[in-house]
Amino acid sequence: MNDILPDVSGTWRYLESVVRDVVQSYGYAEIRLPLLEQTELFRRSIGEVTDIVEKEMYTFLDRNGESLTLRPEATASVVRAGITNGLLHNQRQKLWTMGPMFRYEKPQQGRYRQFYQFDVEALGFEGPDVDAELIILCARMWRVLGISRLTLEINSLGTPESRSRYRQNLVEYFCSVKSELDDDSIRRLEQNPLRILDSKNPEMQAIVAAAPVMLDFLDEESSEHFQSLKGLLDAAGVSYTVNPRLVRGLDYYSRTVFEWVTDALGSQGAVCSGGRYDGLVEKLGGRSTPAVGWAMGIERLVALFEACGGEAPATSADVYVVAVGDNALEYAFATAEGLRDKIAGIKVELNFGGGSFKSQLKRADKSNAEYALILGEQEIAEKRVGLKPLRSTEDQSSIAIDVLAETLAARLGKSVAG
Ligand code: ATP
Ligand code: MG
Repeated sequence: MNDILPDVSGTWRYLESVVRDVVQSYGYAEIRLPLLEQTELFRRSIGEVTDIVEKEMYTFLDRNGESLTLRPEATASVVRAGITNGLLHNQRQKLWTMGPMFRYEKPQQGRYRQFYQFDVEALGFEGPDVDAELIILCARMWRVLGISRLTLEINSLGTPESRSRYRQNLVEYFCSVKSELDDDSIRRLEQNPLRILDSKNPEMQAIVAAAPVMLDFLDEESSEHFQSLKGLLDAAGVSYTVNPRLVRGLDYYSRTVFEWVTDALGSQGAVCSGGRYDGLVEKLGGRSTPAVGWAMGIERLVALFEACGGEAPATSADVYVVAVGDNALEYAFATAEGLRDKIAGIKVELNFGGGSFKSQLKRADKSNAEYALILGEQEIAEKRVGLKPLRSTEDQSSIAIDVLAETLAARLGKSVAG
């Protein structure tokens, strides 16, 4: 579990705000959810025979003896919230949420025990149009952020019925090579054979590669659904590869599944993953409601953004106020507040703790501010300020206090309030 320190939090805030603005521009609204849920919610939604439920959840008994779990993902909570708040009955919802998730995994680069996800869910939509939108809006995010090293993999898992035919076939295949399966796979063979395809064990890869594929078992409707999705992506110019072995780790998916993967982050290559989960709402006690969504790991997004040479806009101050002499501090506060009143978004930092001109200017320089605003006895007496550029060789100038805001705004490329 990591501390997100000030030297990187600017990048986090920038990325989060871009992602938020993009999804809002497609009509998704924020929902904020508790970090704790009843353990049963995750058991039922994610599924018993999954890495998450088997070995990754932070589960404990509260003072009342009730089993609670720190959420390992957001989809189950979104659905639970939709049901308990009556958001799904005869309604459609386009939602996003963001925050920490918890999984007891082996910590390594790109894999943490508390990590952050941005999560988008569309509930009540059946057609492939929403699936396409959810993918197309990802492509827009990558463009806005200048992220290029991502490829899109898609697959269809069909309906529960067609998947059950596939499952049978898969079990027959894996039984025929049972002596070569690892322990995890043998255990999954009975309870959840599809998850064998998701195995991360390199020794299993050849066996997995030779397994039958779901796409050959798709029912007519799922097949059409998948065709339309592909057509919509083609028309939007979003390229993809069909990966018939993409099954995703969780139990609740049906039809569309997809993953944005990168080669820039070593073995933790999945940046954004999602899919359709038409059966989940009903499984959790709601009325049958189709749904689709994705989740993106923010740590991996940050790492990929940096690997692609991305830099967040600077967050240092525009001006640093240097003040020396009697009453200088009062004057400094008044000047700084005046600037904050008049110039939208200006960042002003005051020198605290006094000091000589020289030492204050040193701090000003260290703060990375664009300008030092200099208030000495003479400036105060004449109702002027000294404006000293810190990032260029331009000379210091003396400016009358009543035109300071206009002058400074012009230099900073900002606007002055009415
Ligand atoms: P992986 O195959 O890498 O374990 P996953 O299938 O478990 O991923 P999801 O449950 O789909 O991942 O979560 C969505 C996204 O959250 C992933 O694509 C990834 O970017 C991120 N993510 C998942 N687990 C972690 C973790 N432990 N630390 C950091 N990010 C994570
Ligand atoms: Mg995982």
